Amino acid sequence: DGDDELQFRDPEKAEALADKIAEIGEKLPDPPATVMHVCGSHEQSIAKFGLRSLLPDSVRLVMGPGCPVCVTNMPEVDEAVALAEDGVTVATYGDMLKVSGTSKSLDDARSEGADVRVVYGAQDAVELAEDIDEEVVFFATGFETTAAPTAAAIKADPPENFSVLSAHKYIPPAMDIVAEMPDTEIDGYLAAGNAAIITGHGIFDGIVDRHGLPVVVGGFEPLDILAGLVKLLENIRDGTQTVENAYPRCVTEGGNRVAKEQLWDVFEAVDGEWRGIAHIPDANLELREEYTAYDARERFDIDPSELREASASQQLQECICGDIMAGTADPTDCPLFGEECTPADPVGACMVSSEGTCKIWQEYGGRP
Ligand code: SF4
Repeated sequence: DGDDELQFRDPEKAEALADKIAEIGEKLPDPPATVMHVCGSHEQSIAKFGLRSLLPDSVRLVMGPGCPVCVTNMPEVDEAVALAEDGVTVATYGDMLKVSGTSKSLDDARSEGADVRVVYGAQDAVELAEDIDEEVVFFATGFETTAAPTAAAIKADPPENFSVLSAHKYIPPAMDIVAEMPDTEIDGYLAAGNAAIITGHGIFDGIVDRHGLPVVVGGFEPLDILAGLVKLLENIRDGTQTVENAYPRCVTEGGNRVAKEQLWDVFEAVDGEWRGIAHIPDANLELREEYTAYDARERFDIDPSELREASASQQLQECICGDIMAGTADPTDCPLFGEECTPADPVGACMVSSEGTCKIWQEYGGRP
């Protein structure tokens, strides 16, 4: 409740943690240390509470590929647009509407008469399918946090006119890839507490083993983030490679067993493209064969070839969203930022989504 929230926003405690970070910052072996977080909700909180301004120059805090809307690939949006243009009702999250495919967004299709509905999640889309006779395709995007409810909806025997176009993504393999990118220098990961509620923090042991990077799982209130940074920077200072849980009130080592079982019962991890970032092994979630009956790609003959013939706008080609999500650029490095690209008239996906770094920075007036 509100009181609980306030507990984690106490300014005096925040200042004490910032002092601690400054102290550790003086003893870092190879400053500046770059810490990457992987979650739009972390970036929102960092911007809203001005947490970067509390950090010393020896600590750089960047956002990685943590915006689910932003990593949804253009050809995936093309598939959803093609279905909508074919007369199928497409239901998806509000943030997905303005994200451009190769040449069109779902919002464009809607203004041309397609039936595109905004829903809050898979269950909402199931209820829509129960209410109407037409085919309803849920364009399912997001990470573990939304993939688990999609899996639960599929397992709950939805109506026959319901199916799923999965663009769900799985974060840990993307953390592996970004850690290995030659231009990305990361000294530690602040992992997203919300995804870890489902998968558990044990999932990050592999990241530590493979890359020798410390990982701390953090919550979303200012004190959660600052306390997470203290732990992470201590580990960076000491050269300790381990996973720590700085969000113990919500995250356990094993995660949510039921949600995990449902997730992996319905989905399998396959290789796929993350928009602007890379082709990532085992990071896209596809419906398993047992659930083919609910797979929109099996049910419909989706043909987005016409949409893909038109080329993306010049501005969209200039978008550096991918570099921002790989931690090698800031939104302010993009010449379109706040000029040709604004939340009211976005060019790239990072300016569309409320979890996109560009939109968050724009809303908080530049570098927060
Ligand atoms: Fe892309 Fe717009 Fe961000 Fe530039 S400001 S990187 S065009 S989303």
